Amino acid sequence: MESVSIVRCENYEFNNVKKAVYEALQGITAIKLKIAIGSKVLVKTNLLMRKSPDDAVTTHPAVVEAIVRYLQDMGCSVVIGDSPGGPFTKERLRAVYKAAGMTEVAERTGCELNYDTSAVEMSNSGAKRLKTMQIIRVAREVDFVVSAAKLKTHGMMTYTGAVKNLFGVIPGLIKVDYHMRLNSIENFADHLVDICEAVKPVFSIIDGIEGMEGDGPSAGEKRHLGLILASDNPYVLDRVASKIIGIDPSLIPTIKAASQRGLYDETLGNVEIKGIKPEELHIEPFKLPKSKNINFIGGRLSKALERAIMKNLRPKPVFNHKLCISCGDCKISCPPGVIDMSSGKPIPDLGKCIRCFCCHELCPQKAVSIKKHWLYDIVLRK
Ligand code: SF4
Ligand code: SF4
Repeated sequence: MESVSIVRCENYEFNNVKKAVYEALQGITAIKLKIAIGSKVLVKTNLLMRKSPDDAVTTHPAVVEAIVRYLQDMGCSVVIGDSPGGPFTKERLRAVYKAAGMTEVAERTGCELNYDTSAVEMSNSGAKRLKTMQIIRVAREVDFVVSAAKLKTHGMMTYTGAVKNLFGVIPGLIKVDYHMRLNSIENFADHLVDICEAVKPVFSIIDGIEGMEGDGPSAGEKRHLGLILASDNPYVLDRVASKIIGIDPSLIPTIKAASQRGLYDETLGNVEIKGIKPEELHIEPFKLPKSKNINFIGGRLSKALERAIMKNLRPKPVFNHKLCISCGDCKISCPPGVIDMSSGKPIPDLGKCIRCFCCHELCPQKAVSIKKHWLYDIVLRK
């Protein structure tokens, strides 16, 4: 029997968060059986980019602190880490930790912040995609990894939670290379599941107190849910989270990929919910990112029409040069390298753009939006 905890927590006041996180984790009995006293644990936090906790882009420091304290109470030593978007450097880490409130978490709790920017090659013979991959050294050196995720929509993957969060163990710009090598959403979803299977988080928590809907993971709208979710099975956790936010799991490639591999029972028949039941929540479904549908026309139209639509109507990144500060983050994060900045401002070659929306995800200024042709939804309406 799998277990998922769903606990109410209306705000980020630390005592409330700590109570909710402890309650959620205490509902998952398998955790205590797995973690031995003296273990070293990486709390892999979603630290996508330099953002304040109020932006609802990164896992809130109150949630991370509660997880750290829970692990410390179990006799573990804890390190907080991630490889955010862009180059994996100490300077970037310092800036991201500070902005996201992690520096204070480390000061208050005495836990470590990871500044080791080296990587190791990891063999992953059971993987469906990359049989060897680079991962950040700290993720290899600890005894356990915890996925401390944020509940958000995602331009490319529709949703990001416990599984997608673990892509941050891939170091810096190697992520860009892997995006390019796994040049389809299905391949990329397989790779995310491969990573999750390799890292095997001992448990996962989703910060769903303030989530993000619409054009997540960085440029969407904040959405209050007031929930902390936890499980030792990240696939089941994401599936339950998708149910809570009303996103059809068939639109979430990681959930589909995990289900195809039999990593969880998609009927959720063997899942015990601890705490509040999803049916009791009555949450208005999350707004999807504008880029959704992109992969869901297959089989519904003739191939010729499908190709014409994909070429001419599919969503595209649009750069607002007035908001742009010419930082170049989009250019270095563009997998096929199709963004030209020779004029000082980014200009993409849309003919070669693979619509990964990394530029949209990583722009610190929200200067990249996703636009789709007005006919797109009409043609694709089910
Ligand atoms: S569009 Fe955004 S990421 Fe790209 S250069 Fe401008 S500010 Fe930086
Ligand atoms: S321009 Fe943006 S969406 Fe297109 S390939 Fe580059 S990063 Fe991806």
